[in-house]
Amino acid sequence: MNNPKPKEWLSDVYSRHKIADYKPYNFVDGEGVRCSLYVSGCKFACEGCYNLVAQNFNYGIIYTLELQERILNDIAQPYCQGLTLLGGEPFLNTHVCLSLVYAFREKFNQQKDIWSWTGYTWEELMSESDDKLELLKQIDILVDGRFDITQKDLTLQFRGSKNQRIIDVQKSFAQHKVVLWDKLVL
Ligand code: SF4
Repeated sequence: MNNPKPKEWLSDVYSRHKIADYKPYNFVDGEGVRCSLYVSGCKFACEGCYNLVAQNFNYGIIYTLELQERILNDIAQPYCQGLTLLGGEPFLNTHVCLSLVYAFREKFNQQKDIWSWTGYTWEELMSESDDKLELLKQIDILVDGRFDITQKDLTLQFRGSKNQRIIDVQKSFAQHKVVLWDKLVL
């Protein structure tokens, strides 16, 4: 039997609800000062992956509501611009990420923003399962696509390889096409 394709990967099957790391107040995971959650588990297995340990769905510790409360309190600081979801693969850990983004929107509405990195492309996500689309709808800025070592470029803004895009999610939904972030530096 062939290996399942990305479209057949389901969070319900793979996620162990674990996180590899939580980093409050960093300047590298998107615009401004951000609190970053690194979920555990990714099946893309990109050569040269920046976070190899987090490919393992069993790595790290179980996500808890206590941690969620701490993250939300950290983000509440006026100098913090928002939340970033990375991994691992956020879209294969939708239970964890949806819990956090729903609580985030309840507390901050649109006053702060949500960034996410994913190995899926925007086009793949458009025909994905409901949980993945629901997570995408909650996000403001998405950095999409696998890390491609043959297109690696250390000078790129917030990306590791040239195939990856920084996408304005809400404008893309509204215009039914990929709209790049308007502060993108090419
Ligand atoms: S998609 Fe990201 S986390 Fe997953 S293997 Fe590729 S570089 Fe690593």
